[in-house]
Amino acid sequence: MPTGVLHIDLEAVALNWRALDLMTSSICETAATVKADAYGLGVTQVAARLFAEGCRAFFVATADEGLELRRALGPEPRIYAYYGHMPGDTVTLQRGDVVPMVCSLAQLERHLETLPRHPFGLQLDVGMNRLGLKFDEWAAVAELALRARPVLVASHLSSADEPDAPENAAQLAAFHEMTDGIDVPRSLAATGGTLLGPEYHFDMVRPGIGIYGGLPFAKADPVVELALPVVTCFDAAPGETVGYNATWAVRAPTRLATVAGGYADGLHRALAPGVEVMAGPVPCPVVGRVSMDLMTIDISHLDRDPETVRLLDAHHGIDALAAHAGTIGYEMLTRLGRRYRRQYRGTVS
Ligand SMILES: *Cc1c(COP(=O)(O)O)cnc(C)c1O
Repeated sequence: MPTGVLHIDLEAVALNWRALDLMTSSICETAATVKADAYGLGVTQVAARLFAEGCRAFFVATADEGLELRRALGPEPRIYAYYGHMPGDTVTLQRGDVVPMVCSLAQLERHLETLPRHPFGLQLDVGMNRLGLKFDEWAAVAELALRARPVLVASHLSSADEPDAPENAAQLAAFHEMTDGIDVPRSLAATGGTLLGPEYHFDMVRPGIGIYGGLPFAKADPVVELALPVVTCFDAAPGETVGYNATWAVRAPTRLATVAGGYADGLHRALAPGVEVMAGPVPCPVVGRVSMDLMTIDISHLDRDPETVRLLDAHHGIDALAAHAGTIGYEMLTRLGRRYRRQYRGTVS
């Protein structure tokens, strides 16, 4: 028996991508960020569905992810790697026809030396201080770099999920200052930037989380549902306790269910206390600690023992669940993927 079933709605994935695409003008390309196995949802299935929907540009983190995606999608789409050209990547980039998004002077040198005729993009740093050439570095090498004909110049906003953050306008202005007048397609926006409006779109947007139904795309269709089988149900009496360290005391005669899913399945230990799982339409509180493969819920108020419970559905989304664990939808999603059986709706073959 698997720990649980992660239902992944590829129709919703396609709808969300299409909705983001409709926010941009017809001359702005909508790519898709599918790094980390499409945020844990399965890059092969997700990217194939987006390709069928018309997406022709995909972003991954590593060259290896790019090669895997190339094998899944064939020769047509463009595939870009945010880690750029790392030591040891040369053969993989070539074999996968992956465009490294060069993000430092050392990478630029490495790329031009080892793969001089292989397409590359450039990442600039407009204030996040994570990846990309800084203002002065760019000023020093722009001429040489542009002569080598990069296929894309990109940057990334630090605070695009907060529309009122002053960083947005400042980083947009920095991107203009660094790139106005160059004859290369430009990209600044991920999901948050796409929602900020047309002045952030440039020639390409590259959303990730919004496609998968997460904030800041509040109007996204939900993509994932998680069903967990119940392993056993039993009664507990006042005076007994539940779980590691006996943190939950039974106060009245109680019926409990032990459910197949724990922190090794991405259900953070920090979810309890406070989170509820759904037995049909009825919420049941998690009691005691979440353990590695299991958690316990109070089902005293149900008329009969459930066979499965749901932790994520259309009404209880990844961001609400993430908030219980003190994290964000991105982290919740990427940790869910590993041990569950994934079941897809809307697969393309
Ligand atoms: C992950 C990532 C994206 C996608 O971001 P979302 O917030 O998921 O839309 C875009 N650009 C870069 C550089 C990234 O690292």
